[in-house]
Amino acid sequence: MSAVRLFGLGALAMLLGLDCLARLLRLVRARRGAPRGPLKEVLFFPVDITCVEHLLRAGEALPNSCPCPLPHGQETSFTRLLRHLLSASTSLDLCIFAFSNQSLSRAVLLLQARGVVVRVVTDTSYMAISGSQISTLRRAGVNVRHDMGAVYMHHKFAVVDGRLLITGSLNWTTTAIQCNKENMLVTEEPDLVQPFIREFQRLWDSNDPARHCPHG
Ligand SMILES: [Zn+2]
Repeated sequence: MSAVRLFGLGALAMLLGLDCLARLLRLVRARRGAPRGPLKEVLFFPVDITCVEHLLRAGEALPNSCPCPLPHGQETSFTRLLRHLLSASTSLDLCIFAFSNQSLSRAVLLLQARGVVVRVVTDTSYMAISGSQISTLRRAGVNVRHDMGAVYMHHKFAVVDGRLLITGSLNWTTTAIQCNKENMLVTEEPDLVQPFIREFQRLWDSNDPARHCPHG
């Protein structure tokens, strides 16, 4: 074997050795549970419609295969959004301009039925539009306040358990989810979550019907 060939083989062995070492180090670090920091996720829309029954009927005895014609078992930005919302165990504060999507409405009702305290602030002008889920939520006992300010309440954000912020351009409508280019940011970063908690509370307090009723 020539010296050049020997040198080449030696260099290759060394590279492979380094690669193995790097892999081993990554494995050890993962095993030790290296701190991953607060959750950060970006979701883009539109998405293709897929079945979400497994999320909305979690805990129910479901048939082995769902009979609906939609694709199953796919993770999309919409299933991620639902998963984040359904992770609520104590509270959901929702500030949303337009809310007509039935799956999101079912998710909110599911949380309400589980004992999660749900509060919704929405815009007065959108509430009466056909397909709006706001009256459905109200009938189910969800606390809803409508913004009575002179300008649109155009926010689209949710705070889950005072811990997780979901915010972006997406209205909670089927058109936005399936047809529009939209973005959502999901974060547990306290410096970003806290101002949204304060903004929600400010809107909640300033739209208290008791404050606006002339008879007290
Ligand atoms: Zn299905």
